[in-house]
Amino acid sequence: MNIEETITLLLVEDDRIDQRALLRVIEREKLPYQCETVETVAQAGALLNARHFDVVLTDYKLGDGDAFDIIRIAHNTPVIFITGLGSEELAVRAMKAGAYDYLTKDTAQHYLKLLPIVVNNCMKRRRAELEAQEMAQERVRREALEGFLRDVSHDLRTPLASLGTGLYVINRYAERLFTGLAETPNLPPAMLDQVTRLRERTSQMEDDRGRLEQIISDMLEMVKADNQTALHKVRYDLNALAQEVVDGYLNVAAENQQTLRFNPAPTAVYAPVAIGELSIVLEKLLDNALDYTPPGGEISVLVNDSGAAAEVTIADTGIGIPDEERENIFQRFYRIDKARSRKNGGSGLGLSIARRWVELHGGTIKVDSVQGQGSSFQVQLPLVEN
Ligand code: ADP
Repeated sequence: MNIEETITLLLVEDDRIDQRALLRVIEREKLPYQCETVETVAQAGALLNARHFDVVLTDYKLGDGDAFDIIRIAHNTPVIFITGLGSEELAVRAMKAGAYDYLTKDTAQHYLKLLPIVVNNCMKRRRAELEAQEMAQERVRREALEGFLRDVSHDLRTPLASLGTGLYVINRYAERLFTGLAETPNLPPAMLDQVTRLRERTSQMEDDRGRLEQIISDMLEMVKADNQTALHKVRYDLNALAQEVVDGYLNVAAENQQTLRFNPAPTAVYAPVAIGELSIVLEKLLDNALDYTPPGGEISVLVNDSGAAAEVTIADTGIGIPDEERENIFQRFYRIDKARSRKNGGSGLGLSIARRWVELHGGTIKVDSVQGQGSSFQVQLPLVEN
């Protein structure tokens, strides 16, 4: 329903003179109405069942009933009630019964001048009601999804944790068995081979379990980010925040044989920051930078005050992103190609979560990349004066 578009009116009026007067006004004033006229409650009921109308205009007394019958059968279609002079009390009753508005007839038919205003108000109100209804339904849907994901992830986390402990123990036994057997003289080669395979499989299962946990936690984070409309922010130095995050990745980078550098701005760069959420943003970007950069590559984190914004840039010398994929990667569950990732895992949710948290900071996130040479993700936040 759009008030700029043609409005479909159902006029329920058994007085032919009043019918014609109303249709004449619509024509003369070139009102954007498409009007259908009926004379009885039964005819109105049949038409309302068969078709959608934006508004019903109804006279009070009708051959087989009255306006109250029309209000009853109109259900979700707004009804405007036309009364005779001196019947305001009736109009009030009609409004209480569900009519949206009323027009009072006068002999000179001046009331028809009010028609467009009353109809427009009625449409605006209906539109606002529909929007409120949609928002309420959307809230219910989201709450249900959030509840479902919370329950499911809780149910999944418990066995996952026990799997984790079990696998850890089996893995350590396999390690010991392997070391013991490797030192045993005259061992049949098939036996060492089997233990080697056991060790590889259990370590792979540990990785898979970790990935599953990551996907569950990303799904929960996504629901949380979706439902949040504002963040609690404090004035915080981005140099300090980025330093903390980078420190948490030094070991992983070393294990991956990658160089991880941190280039802070020369002086503190203050921005309004929700510390937990912005840390997650930088973690997601660093996870990716490490994940999509081969051994020997370099990842650098740079904090900068451009004068217009506080910036954190995470650049890597990894595999890069094809031009045509640059916008897609921020969509939920979007992964360019599973085989591209070193870990061969991930939920495809990381960047959409990061973007949502950055937007709730009033900031932006953008990407530059040359395929085969590397990528650079930049987060820009509003500055706070020092
Ligand atoms: P995923 O869990 O798959 O990493 P993301 O939402 O974090 O999901 O990223 C979406 C896709 O964007 C990834 O599948 C990957 O192909 C691409 N991508 C993200 N960061 C980088 C990067 N630093 N280098 C290359 N590709 C990247």
